[in-house]
Amino acid sequence: MNSILQKIEKLRDELHSHNYNYYVLDKPLISDYDFDIKLKELIGLENQYPQFSDINSPSKRVGGAVIKTFNTTTHDFPMYSLDNSYSKNDLEDWNDRIFKNIGDANLEFLCELKFDGVSINLTYENGKLIKAVTRGDGIQGDDVTDNVKTIKTIPLKLKGSFPKKFQIRGEIIIEKKDFIKMNEIRLKNGLDPYMNPRNTASGSLKLQDSSEVAKRPLKCFLYQIVTSEQSCKTQNDYLKNALDWGFNISKTYKLCNSLLDVMTYVNYWDTKRFDLNYEIDGVVIKVNNINYQKELGFTSKYPRWSIAYKYKTEQIATKLISVSYQVGRTGAVTPVANLEPVLLGGTYIKRASLHNEDQINKLDLHINDYVKVEKGGEIIPKIVGVDKSKRTSEFKKIKFIENCPSCFKVLSRNESESQHYCLNYYECSPQITGRIQHFISRKAMDINGLGNETIDLLHKSGLISNYADLYDLQMHDLLPLERMAEKSINNIFRGLEESKKIPFERVLFALGIRYVGQTVAKKIALAFKSIDNLMTRNFENLILIDEIGDRISESIVDFFSNDENCKIIYRLKELGLQFELEENNGPTNDVLKGNSFVISGVFNEYSRDELKDMIEINGGKVSSSITSKTNYLLGGNNIGPSKLLKVKKLEIPIINKDDFLLMLKSKPL
Ligand code: AMP
Ligand code: ZN
Repeated sequence: MNSILQKIEKLRDELHSHNYNYYVLDKPLISDYDFDIKLKELIGLENQYPQFSDINSPSKRVGGAVIKTFNTTTHDFPMYSLDNSYSKNDLEDWNDRIFKNIGDANLEFLCELKFDGVSINLTYENGKLIKAVTRGDGIQGDDVTDNVKTIKTIPLKLKGSFPKKFQIRGEIIIEKKDFIKMNEIRLKNGLDPYMNPRNTASGSLKLQDSSEVAKRPLKCFLYQIVTSEQSCKTQNDYLKNALDWGFNISKTYKLCNSLLDVMTYVNYWDTKRFDLNYEIDGVVIKVNNINYQKELGFTSKYPRWSIAYKYKTEQIATKLISVSYQVGRTGAVTPVANLEPVLLGGTYIKRASLHNEDQINKLDLHINDYVKVEKGGEIIPKIVGVDKSKRTSEFKKIKFIENCPSCFKVLSRNESESQHYCLNYYECSPQITGRIQHFISRKAMDINGLGNETIDLLHKSGLISNYADLYDLQMHDLLPLERMAEKSINNIFRGLEESKKIPFERVLFALGIRYVGQTVAKKIALAFKSIDNLMTRNFENLILIDEIGDRISESIVDFFSNDENCKIIYRLKELGLQFELEENNGPTNDVLKGNSFVISGVFNEYSRDELKDMIEINGGKVSSSITSKTNYLLGGNNIGPSKLLKVKKLEIPIINKDDFLLMLKSKPL
């Protein structure tokens, strides 16, 4: 072999292994200075002999690639979230459910810490990192490979004997001390501090310049190998192997033989977590046996073989500076407390939700009060109490506003409700933009190219005052606006055009009728089949529908009795939006009537939620376990072995996605 290449490869191997010793094992064998000399030598040689370049060279740790937009990639295996538990009782329930499925009374559990960071899915082929993708919505994420390569606790090249191709999941975090250091520097430079380590890690991963990412103190803990070719029998073995291959596996995991053991682990970390260098928000408990994991499979959201145990939230006291009021799309007014910033669980808290007037009165809040703030998971922090001993007679009691903070009309509050509303439906700006923002949102019309800020801008410029106006926008309206160019405008037009294909039930949801959420919209769409039919119905017709009560019926009748709303709907109809259930894809609701399905395995094109919806919309039933009443097993890749056995025994046919789609078209069955 060429001696230059030999030299380069030797340097690479040395640097990979020094990296590992330093970052993963925390046991450097050479000085930083010597490391730098070697790295410089390698970079020099690589520059001189570009024919020997390697995308996984340790020199890639310093970054350099600049990326404009990250490619969206579909996960080979969806990245589910985890079901939560908060008590021993919850865990016992979970254990009971597993026992019913598996029938093994001596289950082993593998307990791990629940690292509070950003999850990442890494793909290795022939021992080399080839792809790193964020979780995204669980089905698709962003390809952030170049950025991830700068994280030194992630091996670019593996050691020992590893499977030819596999994926591994982990959590990218910033340690507490590094986070504090970053913020000290920001404050020194007159910049606002970052909110919390998790968001900062997430933002760092999305930086366009990977050499900037390289400067961020990102670390990564790995915890889950994902592969279609199982090479280990237990999660425990997988973790041990992953450690040997050079992955940074936290040594905090523990194999437990009983729920009692699990609880000991949970309790231990509940107090010890504050001594950790990084933040955790709980513990993750996994069924250790991989075959059992396969048998248990997944619900539409979670693996059944794993559960998170979430710790109680922390509290802290701080000063209440003022209260501001926000108006939502339905006119509901929410008070928000502005607080003197404090660090709580690693996050700077500046605001807390106060919900409504009753809540303010119940807490008897005064301006300048010392309030106790609590933060739970993703939820906005809330005020849970007041330290009245610190109150002086000068503190003023908070009085709920009487007029809308935006349009100044007098607010109204129904006897039976705790919320104040601004009833100025047509002229109150946050309501107008809120409705349009709801209309374009992902779960509603999902209009690409438009975002909340653009809607604000369009409204401020006087171009739109309802969602139908969006479809009348012209190139010459938009070009003069800030940050608009021909390309982005064409994007908006394309998004609007595409939205004309969105099915009726989602259009109905997008209209933003108060109390009509996704599920209700679906029910109503199925029951009435077209907007024309729905608009002529009265209260009595509506409450006849299963699960549609007085409140919803009243709100729907109200909505359609308003001329302006009807005019907007006629305009949207003219424009070609879907206002009828389509025969082909949202067809009559009884094609699958009388048929019960169990869904198992992984599907590439559809999420389980979507398949479940398709079955239910067409009159079928979905259940989670196979019984003699099951008619079909709708199977994707990796159907659990116990399920396969059961369907065989009961002679239940297994159908794949294509058989299923055919079924929907052929009616009756
Ligand atoms: P949640 O987002 O609360 O539903 O929790 C699921 C997330 O927990 C996963 O997507 C992971 O990012 C994260 N997580 C952190 N630590 C672990 C772990 N040890 N095992 C599995 N997931 C973990
Ligand atoms: Zn108003």
